[in-house]
Order: sequence, then C-alpha cells, then structure tokens
Amino acid sequence: MPSTIDNAGTPLQIFETHASYLRHSKSGYWGKPTSSIDWCEHNYAVSFYIAEYYNTITNIGFILVGLFGAIQAYKKGIEFRFVLCYICTIMIGIGSALFHGTLTHVGQQGDETPMMLFACTFVICLIFLKPSTESIYGKNTFNYSIVFAVVFALSFAVLHWHYRFVLVFQGLIGVGAVGCAFLIRPHQLICSNPKVQMLGWHYYVGGLVFAFFLWQLDVHFCEQLHQFTFNPQFHAWWHFGCSIHCYSGTTFLIYQRQIYLGKKKPILKYFMKVLPYVDFLEESKE
Ligand SMILES: [Zn+2]
Repeated sequence: MPSTIDNAGTPLQIFETHASYLRHSKSGYWGKPTSSIDWCEHNYAVSFYIAEYYNTITNIGFILVGLFGAIQAYKKGIEFRFVLCYICTIMIGIGSALFHGTLTHVGQQGDETPMMLFACTFVICLIFLKPSTESIYGKNTFNYSIVFAVVFALSFAVLHWHYRFVLVFQGLIGVGAVGCAFLIRPHQLICSNPKVQMLGWHYYVGGLVFAFFLWQLDVHFCEQLHQFTFNPQFHAWWHFGCSIHCYSGTTFLIYQRQIYLGKKKPILKYFMKVLPYVDFLEESKE
C-alpha cells in the first residue's frame, strides 16, 4: 500500500513498508531519490546507472510510436497541431525515462510536464476537430487556445516544481483523460471506418483503462508482487498502455479531421502490419 516517509525533510511516497523499502533500496549513480515518489521497482537492482531499469527502458514505446507518427504526419502534410501531439508523446517517453532512470526532482518534472503538455494540446485538437468550430469562434481561436494550453502547462510545471502537489497533478490528468473520453465519443460513433473506430475507443480509452488497472496493481500490491520469482513490473506495462493511448488517440483525430475537412480521402494503413497510420487514397494509388 502507498505510504509517505520523510526523505531528508521532504515527503517521499513509497509502496512497501518503510522497513522493506530500506532493505531493498540500493544506492546508485544518481544518489538518494530527490523525487516525491519512488515506485515499486527496486532501485539499482539491474544497473548501477539506472535507478528503475524496467520502468526506464519501457519508455522506448512512447519514443518509437511518437517518432513514427510525427514523421508520417509531417510527410503527408497533415496539420502541425497533430505533429505536436506526437512530439509531446516523444517528450513523455524521454521525460519519463529521465524520471525513472534518476529518481530526481528535475527528472520527475521532466516526466510530468510533457504529460500535461500532451493532455492540453490533445484536448484543444479534440475541441477544434471540426472546422465548423473554428468558423464559429473565429479563425485564430485555435492558435490562441494552443498558446494558452502551453502557457497553462508550463505555469503548472513551475508551481508543481515548487509545491510538489502530485495529487493535484494526478487529479488534473485524470479529469483530462475522462473529459477527452467524453469528447471523443461522438466523433468515434459517427466514424464510418470500423478500424478507425477501434482506434478512437478500444485502443484510445481501452489502452488507458488497461494501463491504469496495471498501475493500480503495482502501487497497491507492491509487497506481494515482490514475492514472485520475477516481479511482473506492472508500472513498466503501464508505459506501453499509455503509449498506445497517446498514439491511437492522435491517429484517430488525424483521420476524422481529414473526413471533416473533406479535401482528400483518408485511408488507414499499417506499418509492418501492426502500427496504423493515416495515408491518402490518391497517394496510395501511385
Ligand atoms: Zn512511469
């Protein structure tokens, strides 16, 4: 169960008993944790240079799908707002790896700020998905909203750095995720392509729900999981679920946006038969 201990004057959330935590905590390259959370995975158990090994390497998922999505979207001439969502996905992966790899205060900020940036950018793209929304509120409203979202996310980061209100951060991200699920649902219901529909609900919402379930298992049953011969490291799997969530949500938005714009006919293609991306019918006939 989660509990909070005193860590040289600052609170540190842990998921084992204090005695068990002290028994398992090895010291490593980055010294004692200065973050406000030390996850269930035992520190420096695999490498002297990486505090939480599995929680670090699994962020490769965010980086790979984010890179692929950003390059594809850029090559296909898709609006930069969606490239930005993919760039935020890459930043989540890099920031999260820094956090889990070092367990430092600055690393934690590197993890949480991109999450806030992605959430803010994604929700603005979702609100303005139909061109009619932009025409109602004026041409520049989207741009102003994106600037506001980025300023909000960065301001929050500054406050969070100072006050370390992790619960407020987690609450905001949770409200954002639930809000986006409600906002995306009408678009998913009118989507005429069944495979894209799957992206906009089963993979986008389902990916996050599944990941959240594993995250909860990791934080509430940490002691029991460590009894296994090999800890399944559910927090590491949470990273994969979240990378599916970010990638499929953005890819769904891109497809539906093309439908609403009505200029080119979008189709869903697969990279190596696994990773979906949006292409256009004209280009695919070449
Ligand atoms: Zn993590």
